Amino acid sequence: MENKSNWTWFLELLNGDLYLIDGRGLVVISDQLIGLLQFVKDILPHVEHRQCARNIYANFRKAYTGVELKKLFWAAAMSCVEGDFKRHMDIIKKLNPSAYEHIMSKEPQTWCRAYMSTGNACKAVENGISECFNSIIVDARKKPLIIMLEEIRIYIMERFAHMIEESTKWNTRICPAVLKKMKLFGKNMRFWLVIHSQHVFEARRGCNRYMVDLDGRYCTCRLWDLAGIPCVHAIATINYIQQTPDEYIDHMFSKEKFLKCYFANTSPVNGSNLWPQTEFVKPLPPVSRRMPSRPKPEGIQECNQGTYPYATKEERKERKEQCEPNQASCDRFERQEHIPMLPKKKGRTRKEQFEPTQASCDRYERQEAVPMLPKKKGRARKKVQYDPNQASGSKFVKSKRKLGINL
Ligand SMILES: [Zn+2]
Repeated sequence: MENKSNWTWFLELLNGDLYLIDGRGLVVISDQLIGLLQFVKDILPHVEHRQCARNIYANFRKAYTGVELKKLFWAAAMSCVEGDFKRHMDIIKKLNPSAYEHIMSKEPQTWCRAYMSTGNACKAVENGISECFNSIIVDARKKPLIIMLEEIRIYIMERFAHMIEESTKWNTRICPAVLKKMKLFGKNMRFWLVIHSQHVFEARRGCNRYMVDLDGRYCTCRLWDLAGIPCVHAIATINYIQQTPDEYIDHMFSKEKFLKCYFANTSPVNGSNLWPQTEFVKPLPPVSRRMPSRPKPEGIQECNQGTYPYATKEERKERKEQCEPNQASCDRFERQEHIPMLPKKKGRTRKEQFEPTQASCDRYERQEAVPMLPKKKGRARKKVQYDPNQASGSKFVKSKRKLGINL
């Protein structure tokens, strides 16, 4: 359950384990949990709390669909300066005033880059990291608590060891993924003209102009300040003074900081055969209880007892024939109640005429005359023994002789 006491308990534990102190220089990104904003401020008063823009857009899309509104929403969320954000929001207002009101009611200060504080080397507007982690542990989350925690522990232990091993292959001061991202930023740097002033530079492209301060690690587009990675204007300026842009990347993306993150790995845990013995009673599994479902008929329960419940039709028929009488019929037998029988067919069956019954046996012992069956009228048919030599005219012999079989 998510309430104030639970969130406070969790945040206090997190603060104690990670030594967050008052949250200065940290960013927390969460889903749309309005109550959580206040709890985070109580425990970590100086932390910057952001809301996930993807979650806000998912709710926005339920009421306002369309590709154009989607593009404008993400352009507004990614705007690094307030002027760009307002320009995109004005277009949304002209398209759909109610959509504009809906977005503005979701506190854009918490999910738009234009209002985010600088110096944290974090320009994220969505919690993609936590979503990735959730997708990995999605199977473990379905399991019992101890098994779930054990699987997560093993995954983290292997992940940390793998990342440490990978970092030994790097020959650069900065992580390769960040260098790759910086190359992407500087892809269009050739389109920017750089003009040198006394201590700062001006990067211009048509009507767009930005002031770049290399010593202060600052550009008026705010992307460098937010991300900690030089923007296209800064890269064009660094290239202008013939220096390498790697030196201007924030130290948070260095290999040294990376190793510091993954250094404290979890230690292996011994198996239960190595645990110390205790005098306490071993815990037993919980008592099995009847699950809420429609009960089966009594007869079927008796027949299916101890067998696989999903038998084929033939198996069920066979099992029913072999089945012992159920409890209801046994009770009735003990009470000696009348069990209705099927009515007998009238007349004697054909079989009974030829098989000796108990009555006929008794009569034989008493040497009474046994009535014989009336003889059939007319002449009895002769029994002819088959002789293949004499039966020369039969079809069978003819066909065998044609085939050359000697009979
Ligand atoms: Zn810039």
